[in-house]
Amino acid sequence: MLMNFILRAAPLTAFLVFSASAARALPNPPEIVPAQGGPIKITPIFHASMQIEYGGKVIQVDPFSAGDYTGAKKADLILITHTHPDHLDLKAIEGIRKQSAFTAMIMPPAAATIVLHSISIRGANPVFPLNNGQSKTMAGIRVEAVPAYNIVRGPKPGQKFHPKGQFNGYILTLGGKRIYIAGDTEATPEMKALKKIDVAFLPMNLPFTMTPQEAAADAKAFKPKVVYPYHYRYPFDKANENPQQFQKALVGSGIQVRLRGWYAHPAPK
Ligand SMILES: [Zn+2]
Repeated sequence: MLMNFILRAAPLTAFLVFSASAARALPNPPEIVPAQGGPIKITPIFHASMQIEYGGKVIQVDPFSAGDYTGAKKADLILITHTHPDHLDLKAIEGIRKQSAFTAMIMPPAAATIVLHSISIRGANPVFPLNNGQSKTMAGIRVEAVPAYNIVRGPKPGQKFHPKGQFNGYILTLGGKRIYIAGDTEATPEMKALKKIDVAFLPMNLPFTMTPQEAAADAKAFKPKVVYPYHYRYPFDKANENPQQFQKALVGSGIQVRLRGWYAHPAPK
């Protein structure tokens, strides 16, 4: 009887193990954005990192080892916003790039200098430096680099955490939709002047970026259809009310705010 139970239970156990690993294959469920030619899938990974899928292509944005990349897909295109370690992480790039095929990378020149000194990554992976205001089409995806910088905040007087002109936010055009990934920035005039943004990702953590109220004022200025607060904690394990405050500040604005678990799935220890 006991043997009979074990024999019958064994396949079930195997199935359960398989299901459990499949369930944690991606850090969060993908956000679905309807677009021409099929949906855009955007999966929040951690802090400022996300996986974007469209038309069979995979884009990894600011891959970061603090996030759980179990089940993340290898990138056709990697976008890096700037040189700070929560955005430019050579180990994470190494893990998410294709080993035997083409993975293009787009980043500001300051980041390209660092990546191009990493022999292992350099290999077959072309790195394209992009300055503010420049754009490039890679893997069939149009990428526009927009300014991301501090207006007032810095480590000491006369210095900024993110100096003007050095780092990027990005606008991706996929299936006619414009996705804006702000990077680390304050409420710049360039951001407020953006037009026709369908989906936006805005940072809100001090001292590095902006307050939830500043980010909300920003969103009201350029009116994305949908906005996600991201990059809202520091330290990463310290929860705060930033996303909720941001959401509250946008009530009645007509802008849809989506809160997601950007810190719910740190990398497995
Ligand atoms: Zn950052």
